[in-house]
Amino acid sequence: MIVVMKPRADEAAVNQVVSVIEANGMYAHLSAGKEVTIIGVVGDKTKLDKRFLQAIPGVEKIVNITESYKLANISFHPEPTKIALANTSIGPENLTIMAGPCAVESEEQIMEAARGVKAAGATMLRGGAFKPRTSPYSFQGLEEEGLKLMQMAGKETGLNTICEVTSLKALEIAVNYVDMIQIGARNMQNFELLKEVGHAGIPVMLKRGLAATIDEWLNAAEYIMANGNEQVCLCERGIRTFETATRNTLDLAAVCVLKEKTHLPVIVDPSHASGVRRYVAPLSKAAVACGADGLMVEVHPNPPCALSDGQQSLDLPEFEQFMKEIKTFTILAGRVF
Ligand code: PEP
Ligand code: MN
Repeated sequence: MIVVMKPRADEAAVNQVVSVIEANGMYAHLSAGKEVTIIGVVGDKTKLDKRFLQAIPGVEKIVNITESYKLANISFHPEPTKIALANTSIGPENLTIMAGPCAVESEEQIMEAARGVKAAGATMLRGGAFKPRTSPYSFQGLEEEGLKLMQMAGKETGLNTICEVTSLKALEIAVNYVDMIQIGARNMQNFELLKEVGHAGIPVMLKRGLAATIDEWLNAAEYIMANGNEQVCLCERGIRTFETATRNTLDLAAVCVLKEKTHLPVIVDPSHASGVRRYVAPLSKAAVACGADGLMVEVHPNPPCALSDGQQSLDLPEFEQFMKEIKTFTILAGRVF
């Protein structure tokens, strides 16, 4: 349920609504927009008599929210969320480009990648230190050593960093080194991890689960937000379908759907979605056209020797060319590049 205040309703009226909500054992979530203030009601509403709220001067209307996700719901927060990082921000004006290798492999590799993607215009550095690999015999990541290298690369280039965490222990370590946490597709519904990320007080990118519906995904975001962290963005990275020509099927319609359902920024990852280097640029252009707030692209200084996902990684000259092509589309989509 949301309480929509009349345009220019004063603070006293807003406070009165909040006290009625709190007196009934619920939580009031305030979203003060340019024109109107919206007060979201979270909790058990069975004891609340809506007439008390409706009678408060300044209340325009009360609207029921049927979806189970509330804080992530666009009705609760009609203005698009902007996630502020030290040197950049995510959504809604600019196009965020998170680029870097699938996995941090060595100091030389991550430094070369970081310098290269920065020079080409990336706004954030990605690199995995805890790798959720399909086979237990594949490279699992450098763990804390990898995080230290990400921090070093971020400091030198001025790029804010993002790293995936795959466990509570990894989260505890990672918050000391990186600017943003990634929850990967395989952990989208790891609710204990989501709750802890909620308490961690660090921006989070939540990737879509391998076979998750948009509703399940938004409910997963709600877990993080309900536990105190509203600095969340979503990442469409392809879903499992019957198609085998690409690694996954990029669901670009999800970007359009999300723009109607949530205020959270939406990033698209064409690398994991397709698994094929030459599809990364065309899918990225389409993602920008659909309204994506950013792209996550795998870039490796030497893809044939990459320890993971080399086949979908761009090398540095390819990334430079990619950025030139994306720039035109970004400007056409009305975003700052
Ligand atoms: C990744 O970004 O490194 C990754 C493993 O992606 P996903 O969780 O989307 O498979
Ligand atoms: Mn990868």
